[in-house]
Amino acid sequence: MPPSHASLPPLTGLETASLDWSTDEAGDAAPLSARFGDVYFSRHDGRAETEHVFLAGNDLARRFANWAHARPFIVGETGFGTGLNMLCAWACFDTHAPASARLHLVSTERYPLARDDLARALGAWPDLASRAGALLRQWPEPVAGVHRLELDARVTLDLHFGDAAERLALLEGRVDAWFLDGFAPSKNPDMWRPELFAALAARSHPGASFATFTCAGVVKRGLAAAGFAWRKVPGYGRKREMLVGEIAKPASDADAMRRRATPWFVPPAPRPVRHVAVIGAGIAGASMARALARRGIDVSLLDREAPGAGGSGNRQGALYVKLAAEPNDQSRAYLAGLQYSLRWLERLDPDHRLWSPSGLLQLAMNEREQARQTRFLATQRLPRTLLTDVDATEASGLAGVPVAYAGLSYPSAGWVRPAALCEFLSTAPGIVFRRAEVTALTTTAAGWRLALSNGGSLEADQVVIANAVAANRFAQTARLPLQAVRGQVSELRLPKEAPTLTRVVCGGGYVSPPLDGVLTFGATFQPNEAETDLRMADHAANLAELERGLPALAQLLRDVGVAFEPTACTGRAGVRAASPDKSPYAGPVPDADAWRRDYAALGKDATRIPNIPGRHHPGLWISAAHGSRGLASAPLCAELIASRMCDEPLPLEWPLADHLHPGRRVVRDIVRGG
Ligand code: SAM
Repeated sequence: MPPSHASLPPLTGLETASLDWSTDEAGDAAPLSARFGDVYFSRHDGRAETEHVFLAGNDLARRFANWAHARPFIVGETGFGTGLNMLCAWACFDTHAPASARLHLVSTERYPLARDDLARALGAWPDLASRAGALLRQWPEPVAGVHRLELDARVTLDLHFGDAAERLALLEGRVDAWFLDGFAPSKNPDMWRPELFAALAARSHPGASFATFTCAGVVKRGLAAAGFAWRKVPGYGRKREMLVGEIAKPASDADAMRRRATPWFVPPAPRPVRHVAVIGAGIAGASMARALARRGIDVSLLDREAPGAGGSGNRQGALYVKLAAEPNDQSRAYLAGLQYSLRWLERLDPDHRLWSPSGLLQLAMNEREQARQTRFLATQRLPRTLLTDVDATEASGLAGVPVAYAGLSYPSAGWVRPAALCEFLSTAPGIVFRRAEVTALTTTAAGWRLALSNGGSLEADQVVIANAVAANRFAQTARLPLQAVRGQVSELRLPKEAPTLTRVVCGGGYVSPPLDGVLTFGATFQPNEAETDLRMADHAANLAELERGLPALAQLLRDVGVAFEPTACTGRAGVRAASPDKSPYAGPVPDADAWRRDYAALGKDATRIPNIPGRHHPGLWISAAHGSRGLASAPLCAELIASRMCDEPLPLEWPLADHLHPGRRVVRDIVRGG
């Protein structure tokens, strides 16, 4: 297999900023970075400085007022700090932009503020309080990677945690206006290095502007070398001068260079998108529909049954991921997905009617799992607020019932009502649910025609296939391998006096805290089975698994009279779809026949890479193969696809977008002579 990408920086927790609260000249307390010995902003006139340097320096009020593109206006920044600049850009956008416009903010930060520090710093600006609240509610854990926040209906913020140059090189997306912030080059020479300027240029839309408070020679030289034209303009307050300018010559195309190693992943050119048909109303399709509707796109959401009727139809499901001991692309994508799902759910349903961030325990029930977890903790230094190891006593305290094993605790993970969530999403504004089975897809002059089993048809500009195990039954997707995996969950009705499990506990299977007096546990994992009949043998297997993982809970249930028997169980069986490598397919549908012709040479010599961009079925996308982890993967995959469709920055590093690309197996099969 040809190399797919450079390696990503370590998957790790980041050091948070350490702040001193100094008193500035006017006697106001202002946050000062202990590391850099410089202030984040002046409390006295920080707002005016931001407005002068970054907003006026990029002519944002006028550009926002005139913004008439379907894609959002994109602002990029090198040091997010307290977020003051970005919140001011958002306020300026709300004042000046037409109602149809959208704003996308992309900012990097190597030392994220702890949430309390952020709250205290932003407390300086009472008129930004509601915007600061939206930021604080979704403020991510300090983990390297991309964190997408939906600030309001039309404003999105992507926080790229890590070093600015490193992170911007992993960004797929282009910016219209840059805020070059970060402490002064004399105090922070590491950031203002040639790689940063090269990355800024490579991620600039034609005509992109920049503004920065500094006039340092290293910045002027760096900008010029990367292809930016700069000029000095009056600075703010005591600073005599600052720099503004724009990209003057297109960057030597770093993207084209990297794409030469994997031309099949070159994304299709954006096409008009007013109406999209989404096939399948499980968590993949319903979250897809919602991501598109939020962008103002009309969505027809089609399912042969009802929303959440298939694999996403359980009353209750665990929201968690199992991460590999050594960080790999799959783990990174799933961890990003889990963090995104938690933010997404909190924004959709802050009252927790559809989900609960109850916390989750992953027990180490045997030596192999213990060794895996130990190795995992040693290689991936994630914040304890996201993930921590617990001994059996701590686990018992967290679970509310005696637990005999040590394990990992995910304090903010939990459970979801998947069927109710799908139902909720499918009735959102902009989405029309239609009960219909799609039997075939054909192209039209404008897009696609969907043939329906009732003899009718539907036309749409673009189509997203999200119907799980049936996703490769269309001629266009027939070469994407999918495996059916049957899963049955069991349910036991509990009496009032039953002990209360307070977290989701995963061992061999999972068991969730009781919901409306019913304990849900399971699920079986039966590859290559696609029947959904309820089986006593599967209830027995689920009961045995529950007994093995939480024997004390099983005993306590018996003690209050719960019949711990298959015949006492109700439940539900569903079919999930899995890809051979167990990662989802999320992206454009490759024209597999064209790929087999275009890349045939790889079958003889995998290093002879034809310089032909991947051909795709235009306007056809897929979100499938989410296995039993769709609650963690589908919402982020929906954002990934919607972002590509709408020419927006991606919510994942490009190597991870490549990892999820539906064509990855097609290339692999060609290389292996299949
Ligand atoms: N824009 C900020 C605001 O509105 O509050 C102020 C930014 S503060 C002056 C500079 C920020 O750059 C700090 O938060 C610092 O941690 C961050 N920073 C420093 N070096 C960095 C690097 N190499 N990559 C990314 N961020 C960096």
